[in-house]
Amino acid sequence: MSDPVQEFAFFPAQVAGTRRLGPTMLRVTFGGEALAGFASGGRDQSCSLFLPHPGQAEPLLPHRDGDGWFAAWRALPPSERAVMRSYTVRARRTEPPQLDVDFALHGTDPADPAPAGPAATWAAGAKPGDRVVLLGPTVADNRSVGFRPPEGTRTVLLLADETALPAVGAILEWLPAETRTLAWVEVPDAADIQDLSDADRLDITWLIREPGSPSRLLTSPREAELPADATYAAYAWIAGEAGTVKELRRHLVRERGLDRHAVSFAGYWRRGTSEDRLREEAYDAPPS
Ligand SMILES: Cc1cc2nc3c(=O)[nH]c(=O)nc-3n(C[C@H](O)[C@H](O)[C@H](O)COP(=O)(O)OP(=O)(O)OC[C@H]3O[C@@H](n4cnc5c(N)ncnc54)[C@H](O)[C@@H]3O)c2cc1C
Repeated sequence: MSDPVQEFAFFPAQVAGTRRLGPTMLRVTFGGEALAGFASGGRDQSCSLFLPHPGQAEPLLPHRDGDGWFAAWRALPPSERAVMRSYTVRARRTEPPQLDVDFALHGTDPADPAPAGPAATWAAGAKPGDRVVLLGPTVADNRSVGFRPPEGTRTVLLLADETALPAVGAILEWLPAETRTLAWVEVPDAADIQDLSDADRLDITWLIREPGSPSRLLTSPREAELPADATYAAYAWIAGEAGTVKELRRHLVRERGLDRHAVSFAGYWRRGTSEDRLREEAYDAPPS
């Protein structure tokens, strides 16, 4: 992982409020004057969130300047250093400076068989005034925006699970009204379905996950008829569980004939692996 350059900075913030969006989704609104300098490119703009462990008043992140913060953070004991996780900026407001982040609350309900994690657990208990730190952009055009349809795109395909639903919502708000959009979004519960857009050009298929069964994202888009121009004027964006994302990308490129450069994809989480573990794997991997 590289250290942030000037296009990113650390922003201390606190919880301004929370709102339930569904049984497994919670919106946390962050506020604080420092957020006035937080820019956002919209779409799937992501940021790193630094959270305290239970019992800590604030996240432990002693070194917040340009170079060296990552090494300093990594040198601290994992049980003490801030929990670092990736999230999407669902919305940003300036008066007062606020950001909305929508958290999938995996495993935080005793009836949910999915494993919990420190970030989901933190969100489930978040209260106004709770302190966090964000590492986010200072300029709207920055490297943490992945949704970049090439010029001439007429059709957009979006394939996402609940962790990428905030990005889907923000992408739909950003897309020009004339772009035809086909979306497949899988959520854990029918009551997690959101009213995202009333645009005629949006054709969205909501999929409800069946516990213990493979993701329905692996079957539903395969059965769909794609528009005739899909192989030359379509752009696809896929995000969610890493294994599912990989399969879907393969399907669109190999079986549907989409140009691989017209398919953006991102594993947002990997089954059985925490984000800490994924980061350590990336850090330990030999340079390619
Ligand atoms: C660029 C980017 C943007 C993201 N945006 C969002 C966002 O806006 N909202 C959001 O909710 N998530 C988002 N995610 C995903 C989020 O970072 C991961 O789900 C993260 O693992 C959550 O941290 P945790 O501490 O709760 O769990 P971890 O400690 O990382 O993982 C603990 C266990 O939970 C499992 N797990 C992780 N996520 C899920 C899940 N959703 N369902 C079931 N099991 C899971 C892991 O496989 C692991 O076994 C984004 C990820 C990336 C890379």
